Amino acid sequence: MTTNISTKFVPSEGDPSRNIWFIGEAPGADEETGTLNHPAPGPFIGESGSVIFTPCLLRNGLPRPDSVFVTNLSHHRPKDNKFEYLIGSKELADGINEIKELIIKNKPVVICTLGNWPMYFITGKKGKKPGSGILNWRGSILQHESGIKVIPTIHPAAVYRDRKLYPIFDQDIKRVVFDSSFRDLKLPERKFTIAPVGDELEHYTQVLLKSDKLAVDIETFGPNIGCVGFSNDPSMGVCIVNDNTPQFRDSVDRLLLSDIPKILHFGVFDKAILKLHGFSVNNYWWDNQVAQCVMWPELPRAHKYLVSTYTREPYYKNEAKEGGGDKKSWGKRTDRTKLWIYNCKDDATEYEVQECQEKEMNEGPPNWKKFFNFSMEMLEVAEHISESGMLVDQDRRGLLELAVTYKYAKNQDLLERLTHVGFNDNSHPQVHKMLYETLKLPVHKTRQSKVTADEDALIALIALCKEKIGTIRREKELAEWQTKFLIVKMIMLIRGHRKLLSSYLRAKISADGRIRSTYKVPATETGRWSAEKYVDGTGVNGQTFPRDYVELPPESELKEFRAITLDIANESESDKEEEDDEQEEVA
Ligand code: URA
Repeated sequence: MTTNISTKFVPSEGDPSRNIWFIGEAPGADEETGTLNHPAPGPFIGESGSVIFTPCLLRNGLPRPDSVFVTNLSHHRPKDNKFEYLIGSKELADGINEIKELIIKNKPVVICTLGNWPMYFITGKKGKKPGSGILNWRGSILQHESGIKVIPTIHPAAVYRDRKLYPIFDQDIKRVVFDSSFRDLKLPERKFTIAPVGDELEHYTQVLLKSDKLAVDIETFGPNIGCVGFSNDPSMGVCIVNDNTPQFRDSVDRLLLSDIPKILHFGVFDKAILKLHGFSVNNYWWDNQVAQCVMWPELPRAHKYLVSTYTREPYYKNEAKEGGGDKKSWGKRTDRTKLWIYNCKDDATEYEVQECQEKEMNEGPPNWKKFFNFSMEMLEVAEHISESGMLVDQDRRGLLELAVTYKYAKNQDLLERLTHVGFNDNSHPQVHKMLYETLKLPVHKTRQSKVTADEDALIALIALCKEKIGTIRREKELAEWQTKFLIVKMIMLIRGHRKLLSSYLRAKISADGRIRSTYKVPATETGRWSAEKYVDGTGVNGQTFPRDYVELPPESELKEFRAITLDIANESESDKEEEDDEQEEVA
């Protein structure tokens, strides 16, 4: 026994000879003591069990305790419910050994692991590190070392905290129920053709030119095209690698320019990149991301999510990159062969997803089709706006940059005088120390319990300072709160200036002097458009241009402004590097 792990043993629930098992992490406080409704200790009888897990099982025809076996990796509760305390402990090792023996003895048909740690200990799957990656792997059909089928899903406590996850959890439970009637994995079989050249490339071009529909997907190295992949059946994919030969261009051109209806996922990106390299896509007929936004606007729309719901292909987005992670563009270290296979999987699954979506749309409300067709038409408008961009008045932009940099310098100076330290508002640790240690303001935390000084936190702190200033009478105390107010306000203002500079006034502009955005249609739950930087890495999110008035310096003072801002510009460059370093650490 250690002080971080409870000595109390919480038993499993149900009969291990059942076909379906659920494995959680470890009991919580309610599981240890029992509750009003479940006086005896047992797994998942607390809040997340009784509000999310048990009702979801019931609505999918799995009443507890008789129809399933439910257990945890550990029978013992870790301090503060922190699973990390169990890592390396005897309690966890005993729990995992017991599960292993029970699996061999009872051979369940399917095990559903709940959350990151059970997925890791039962299948070895993880994100960048153990105990992460569940949102990528959930719904995948995996295996325990014994060969027993395992389907991971999100932990019910995560669903309890974020109810948007409920439909995804419910969908995974449905897959568990479906898969409990057969033992084999029934994974899709696909045949891929990688980098054909010469006669082989011509053969596949001819085959693909006879298709009824063509799924298309590209991989990019920065703004350059690495390959263009095609599929005309869920069981196949052809990856045509860009070897800069006329034959590559000729085959890809014939396929893209053909009248065959094309299927893409977020095709605005692929089309814009292709266009930068002189390729046009004819008959852009179906976009899977648009179809998802139209039919299920409240659900995720990434390709990996659509693959997890419409196909039996396990998560594969990490396959081309050691260490995991999804990417839109690849680098020098990317293993090319893995990338071409990955591209073929994208092509084939894109095709498979489209077939399911079309069937679903045809069987659904007629307005789905109407809105889908309208959105596909709007894509052309969005493309046009994206491509046109806006011609930038460089002189005016320079003046605005000067004015904002000047304000930034003044406020930074004021902040340093108030705090009496050379204080970098761009460093999270320094801001946290200043607000929560030096000024002793109440600590704000994110939903994941991380200390934060984000915009919401600063707004709340400003409101608190204002309230104190309005009620406190003692002069010394009042002066203290006025200083606190000014410091928080300055941090907020300076952040605003920096954002204005880095995201807008110093944003990269395309070589033709235009600033562009990529517009997505529809892209939000309510069907509105969204925008982001342009596909070549330049530009801004054109929907969030700040509209606040910026006072420009008078002609007579321009010289002084320039002198002051020159130093700042250099300083803020090094700040930016520090910010990038920090973000990398956080990620
Ligand atoms: N969380 C778990 O992982 N298991 C339980 O039994 C309860 C909460």
